[in-house]
Amino acid sequence: MNESKRIYLDNAATSRVSEEVLDVMLPYLTGLYGNPSSVHYYGRTARIAVEEARKTIARLLNVKPANVIFTSGATESNNMIIAGCISDLKCNHIITSPLEHHAVLHSGQHYSSQYNISLSYVHFNADGSIDQNNLIKQLELRAANESKCLVSLMHANNETGLLTDIETISHLCKQTDAVFHSDCVQTIGHYPLDLQALGVDFASASAHKFHGPKGVGFLYVREGLQLSPMIYGGSQEKGFRAGTENVASIVGMAKALQLCYQNFKKDQQYISGLKDYFCNQLKENFAGILINSGNFSLYSVLSVSFPKTDRTEFLILNLDQKGICVSGGSACSEGDSHVMRYLKRADHYTTLRFSFSKYNTFEEINQVISILKEILEPVSVSYL
Ligand code: PLP
Repeated sequence: MNESKRIYLDNAATSRVSEEVLDVMLPYLTGLYGNPSSVHYYGRTARIAVEEARKTIARLLNVKPANVIFTSGATESNNMIIAGCISDLKCNHIITSPLEHHAVLHSGQHYSSQYNISLSYVHFNADGSIDQNNLIKQLELRAANESKCLVSLMHANNETGLLTDIETISHLCKQTDAVFHSDCVQTIGHYPLDLQALGVDFASASAHKFHGPKGVGFLYVREGLQLSPMIYGGSQEKGFRAGTENVASIVGMAKALQLCYQNFKKDQQYISGLKDYFCNQLKENFAGILINSGNFSLYSVLSVSFPKTDRTEFLILNLDQKGICVSGGSACSEGDSHVMRYLKRADHYTTLRFSFSKYNTFEEINQVISILKEILEPVSVSYL
């Protein structure tokens, strides 16, 4: 199939690098290929580019440049934060949720099974929001036991798109002296966030979720907190993260974030329009579906559960054959979603995550609806 005819609705898995981003990256892959640790002209030019990118990202998020550490992406950021909270901040209990990305869940489970770290999960309300009373109870219990708690809760769920009120959670954590990390992969680069105002101690991000390149991200550490490195080697990133900086990608990431802040209103309005239109079309055309992305959800993600029939069994593959790219949930979960299992959607429903970007069109949505109809509607058989 002609590539230009494919319809890409999997932007929560990864997104297309925008032209403007590619333009600022190219010079650092071609002429200006210096190592930022070298003292000569090429090295100094690369160092300036990395530090300018750090300043841009910090300014946009309203934090200090020294509190932004570049990494290979959010998986590394999440791992480094959890490891550092245990080793440096002496956290001995982790409160998280069963719906976190595996980069948080598996990391927490690793420390709880291999080290003397206890782990508990928050409860959810019927609408998919975090049960704050349950979180308060858990925080108070740990504070009474003199445990030092790390709370790790994502800003938006990558499968359902449901948002969490992390400002309130930051506040609750402060009251009990707990440390708060939020995996902001699905929101940084989608909303003009102010990390200081949100009050988080740590946050993580990946550039490829907001039209930047893959394999680069960052973590934010609140002023006054410090983490030991997880990767040892040279003194890059002030000794917090060794390894030659991914200069072109760091420059691209800063540009991608800048574009998000610059165009946020226009892009959000357009993408929300696509999502709402698609959602209404689905409701009109397919009986019995469940919408998993409620009112307080990402404007770019629509998770829909279709009642299981023989026609939904290979739905993702059937759509792919027709040139439509969607996923069942997280791209990393290979079909078995812990989120859908937890939400009790796994046995009787087939769930698709449609995730949109500024590059999608209403025409594409119409095409997807008619192809879904073709695949899902019963064939009428004539006996005449
Ligand atoms: N956290 C969330 C919520 C994600 O959606 C992802 C990627 O899908 C990650 C973490 C991991 O990001 P990366 O694969 O870029 O390291």
